[in-house]
Amino acid sequence: MRFVTGLTCHLCGAQYAPTASWVCSECLGPLEVSYDYGAVKQVMSRSLIESRPHSLWRYVELLPVAEPMTGFYSGFTPLVRATRLADALGIDELYIKDDSVNHPTFSYKDRVVSVAATKAIELGFPVFGCASTGNLAGSVAAHAARLGLPCFVFIPYDLEPAKILGAAIYEPHVVAVEGNYDDVNRLCTQIADRYGWGFANINLRSYYAEGAKTMGFEIAEQLGWRYPDHIVSPVAGGTLLPRIYKGLRELREVGLVDGTLPRIHAAQPAGSAPVVRAIEAGQEYPDPVKPDTIAKSLAIGNPADGFQVVRVVKETRGSAAAVADEDILQAIELLARTEGIFTEPAGGTTLAATKALIERGVIKRNESVVVCITGNGYKTADVMQPRITPPTRIGRSLAAFEEAVGSKIPVPVAAGPQ
Ligand SMILES: *Cc1c(COP(=O)(O)O)cnc(C)c1O
Ligand SMILES: [Zn+2]
Repeated sequence: MRFVTGLTCHLCGAQYAPTASWVCSECLGPLEVSYDYGAVKQVMSRSLIESRPHSLWRYVELLPVAEPMTGFYSGFTPLVRATRLADALGIDELYIKDDSVNHPTFSYKDRVVSVAATKAIELGFPVFGCASTGNLAGSVAAHAARLGLPCFVFIPYDLEPAKILGAAIYEPHVVAVEGNYDDVNRLCTQIADRYGWGFANINLRSYYAEGAKTMGFEIAEQLGWRYPDHIVSPVAGGTLLPRIYKGLRELREVGLVDGTLPRIHAAQPAGSAPVVRAIEAGQEYPDPVKPDTIAKSLAIGNPADGFQVVRVVKETRGSAAAVADEDILQAIELLARTEGIFTEPAGGTTLAATKALIERGVIKRNESVVVCITGNGYKTADVMQPRITPPTRIGRSLAAFEEAVGSKIPVPVAAGPQ
């Protein structure tokens, strides 16, 4: 908090103290945390950051907390140079920012929740909760368990079983609402108001969003303190994409990186693509849609920060792609086959959109691109189950093995041990 100057309305610029408010009382615009960048510049250096543990807190001067309380192993996920995938897509320099292995709940949400949970304690909320499409519920419940905080998570009733289990295991109160995410969100806004609870993505949203900047910080640091030419980000509620941009801009503001900011592109499933549709139609504000897609993590029809995504895409000369469910599944398989990374449909969406942007010539062969893979495939194993090749079942003898797979045994390149 040393460097936080307050909350600023994103629309009208009104200033507020850094409390638990998230909308401007003047114009209902969202509130953003602002910092004294001049003062941050005096203390933050590449070598200071590099000397710190590998977690999102290595950028603490640009995060809105007094003292981190959870997330000590969250963030700083691998940035993988994906050469086989790049070859398959016909480009030279492609990286996977791999939040499918984020700690402790295997999605990008551990970043935003580390900040929101710390803030919930700082602000003295009696209960920590969220409205979730799945991954957020698991992350909120895990961080609440670690902190010993009473926890309520609210989800749509039709979530994938593994995502429900992945929240319930930490023993929060799991409330399954008979409606879609947008119904869940509306109910939670009323509960936050009535009971004074802290909801990560509602009344703590201004702080929650700051956690997402760390994805941008890490991409630049892991590329050797430079920007790529392109970043492709998935969009659900619209927190991540604009905050990757905010993070990248802040690094320049405090003198840690220079050069041209990347073009940032939005990826959504065709069955829930209000932001992509708005960008394509040249609209400033997305029209709500009714989601219908296998990418349930991205099934938000009325994204709270959708207009911010539209603005950032425009400002960075980015573009957008909506992709069909079948293309999402094929992209999951492509990533697994070429890079050994298993992502959920949200990741498949981002990769399929990247492929579409390469085919359209938006991303050129000799330009560098970072693809944000935000969730883990094990939580949505049910969508891939019917598509995998079943194991070859055989008897216990060598003859049985040779009979079943003999024709598939590769010819050795060099002689093996005799
Ligand atoms: C939440 C989530 C996102 C992005 O959500 P935003 O609300 O746009 O920040 C992307 N991928 C996965 C797997 C998620 O859980
Ligand atoms: Zn305002």
